[in-house]
Amino acid sequence: FAPWTDPDAVPLIRIEGVTKRFGDFTAIDNIDLNIYRREFFALLGPSGCGKTTLMRMLAGFETPTEGRISIDEQDMAGVAPNRRAVNMMFQSYALFPHLSVWENIAFGLRRDGADKDKIAARVEEMLKLVQLERFARRKPHQISGGQRQRVALARSLAKAPKLLLLDEPLGALDKKLRQDTQFELMDIQEKTGTTFVIVTHDQEEAMTVASRVAVMDNGRIMQVATPAEIYEQPNSVYVADFIGDVNLIEGRVSSIDEGRATLDWAEGQHPITGQASGSLSKGGRATFAVRPEKLYISREEPTERTNRVWGKILDIGYLGNLSTYHVETTGGQVIKCEMINVSRIDRRDYTWDDEVWLSWSDTAGLVLPE
Ligand code: ATP
Repeated sequence: FAPWTDPDAVPLIRIEGVTKRFGDFTAIDNIDLNIYRREFFALLGPSGCGKTTLMRMLAGFETPTEGRISIDEQDMAGVAPNRRAVNMMFQSYALFPHLSVWENIAFGLRRDGADKDKIAARVEEMLKLVQLERFARRKPHQISGGQRQRVALARSLAKAPKLLLLDEPLGALDKKLRQDTQFELMDIQEKTGTTFVIVTHDQEEAMTVASRVAVMDNGRIMQVATPAEIYEQPNSVYVADFIGDVNLIEGRVSSIDEGRATLDWAEGQHPITGQASGSLSKGGRATFAVRPEKLYISREEPTERTNRVWGKILDIGYLGNLSTYHVETTGGQVIKCEMINVSRIDRRDYTWDDEVWLSWSDTAGLVLPE
């Protein structure tokens, strides 16, 4: 499932050159983005980057200052929210406290004047989808937070929108429930085939549920890609740093060759090599990015590997399944290494101040423009 790789695929949502200004403040800055049918798309970024504003423009609660949004090949300019095949589920769920679960789900269908049997059939179908058949008669205060979340979801899907917008849908749930609910959400999205666009500032959540993720900063989209691409091939230091843990090492490019770039980064250390990314120039400054779990720690110098740095262990964190080592190298640079504790033998008895080597393969790191 990767419609975005098919040049003939028609996107469900087209966002073209969209800018949104509030007075002289630019909340969304000239965004282009296509989202396809059946996608579970995540808008991810720090607070204030414009995620909610972009979503509210899709729903029709805000109007773009410039540019065009079309849904299903129809220009949305001047189309009111209730005339769009779009529904939005809010973080607060906004369930009616005095109505039962059943009546909450039926609400929108009733308001549209659908006939009784059709409403009943649809509500039953939705109850089954979210596995709440047994709770149909309860009021919102008589069910758990996770169940309320599912009622809100069932209600949002009852009218079969083409697009469902979810604003921090799991924000009110605790961590464990949140993780279980992520899988339920994916399952329901898959079953209904509805396009979901989720807004979240939780990167793990975006990575878990989404087919593609847009990483935003300051009203702009920095990168749009699958979770694996975002993690493995971030296109900038910003994205590399925003998603997951990363070691960033600054230096000067000494050579670029066949997609690889080599960086001189400290006196007395070997140069380091990784995949060249973006516009780099020989002699220019660049940043090396490598994930902590790609590093290997050893006492002996691993002379067979080109990427190897030496330093002193600052601290060790034992987390059960893995151990993390902070190693201080030249110029006070601290590099983090994460090793899975596969067996007792892997928990080599390192301790503070031990001199060690960290090494990694030539394909593990990226050299990014500064
Ligand atoms: P959060 O994760 O905190 O909800 P967000 O990424 O969703 O943040 P938005 O709510 O889209 O961010 O807001 C983007 C920027 O636009 C913020 O700086 C916000 O203050 C500003 N903004 C949003 N709505 C308005 C408005 N109606 N008038 C003026 N400024 C606004």
